[in-house]
Amino acid sequence: MTTQEQGAIPVPQVEERTPIPKQNLRVPGPTPIPSEVLAAQTNPMINHRGPEFAAIARRVTARLQYFFQTTSPVLTFPASGTGGQESAVVNLFSPGDHVVAITIGNFGNRLAKIAEAYGLNVTRIEFPWGQAADPASVEARLKELPSYKGVLLTHNETSTGVTNDLEALAALIRRLAPETLIVVDAVSSAGSIPLDMDRWDLDAVFTGSQKGWMTPPGIMMIAASPRAWEANKTARLPRFYFDWGPARKQLLEKGQHPTTPAVSVFYALDVALEMMLAEGREAIFARQQQAGDYVRGRVRAMGLQLFADHQNASNTVTAIKVPEGIDSKALLKKLREQDRIVFAGGQAHLEGKIFRIGHLGYFTEADLAQALDTLEQRLHEFGFKS
Ligand SMILES: *Cc1c(COP(=O)(O)O)cnc(C)c1O
Repeated sequence: MTTQEQGAIPVPQVEERTPIPKQNLRVPGPTPIPSEVLAAQTNPMINHRGPEFAAIARRVTARLQYFFQTTSPVLTFPASGTGGQESAVVNLFSPGDHVVAITIGNFGNRLAKIAEAYGLNVTRIEFPWGQAADPASVEARLKELPSYKGVLLTHNETSTGVTNDLEALAALIRRLAPETLIVVDAVSSAGSIPLDMDRWDLDAVFTGSQKGWMTPPGIMMIAASPRAWEANKTARLPRFYFDWGPARKQLLEKGQHPTTPAVSVFYALDVALEMMLAEGREAIFARQQQAGDYVRGRVRAMGLQLFADHQNASNTVTAIKVPEGIDSKALLKKLREQDRIVFAGGQAHLEGKIFRIGHLGYFTEADLAQALDTLEQRLHEFGFKS
């Protein structure tokens, strides 16, 4: 290396780190973290191939199985939710396989795009954003199609605040195609709203630690049915990092992972799951329903319009139409900078058209009330008249 090349990249200046303000973080993931869960992450590092980690891995797996409602092991990978989408695709299919993607928004599209990127032959059944997949239309479309190896769908579409009737959709898919693989993106639903993997006969279900689990980002969780494990044996798409086989073997035999897990995030997830069990699965679902009802009620009372169809509105995220004449970017900036309340904007073509309020993971009704009270005030300052 010449002297000149060595000098090309200057030594970074010692710079003060930007402080992280306390916020009312109301985006649909990452979510705020309870102090007990945050504190767990300050535990010292351990060997991920040692006995302490194995105990945590086994405990976390059993608890995740309970929340997924499955007898299959729930595997984890150091990844975000998108890793779950990719993991499902590469473990189940072969190049050229025909799959159907039922899409109702941006995350459904992402899953379809991943399948296409891996060379699958994807037929999309699309619904307008803001609506759920209509079971009768899905059934009619599926009946017209040549046989399909899998159906990819989103349980809760975070980009539009819509929850699909997964139980009904899975039942009709299974009736029409008894052997097809039902792949479910449950990133923003698992742990928060009812999801019954085995009873609904779902083949692959995945989620991410930063959504409904009161845990920082970093762990993707995925479970596969016996049918999916059978398909995994002959699936020929290339896979390595997200390969389920070695992950299951190491987990069951040793309580380990093929690669280094996110140890500190495991500490957090372990405590978060303990808190979730203490509250109770059904109690969480009931609280989520209340939160959804509360946010929607307040939003309507302000004179705002919900983006999602009423009967399919999500209990983990609410999407709101930006009223005519309001600059939503400036509004969200004001709320973020002045009030330390952080809402999410719209994605893709919905940018500037909707904004979204997350109510999943760790929150209290007071957090929601404070966010909505302030939103109402700021909207009036911005000239909104209901
Ligand atoms: C958040 C989310 C994803 C993507 O997760 P990342 O963690 O951002 O990769 C995928 N699907 C749904 C439904 C989500 O809510």
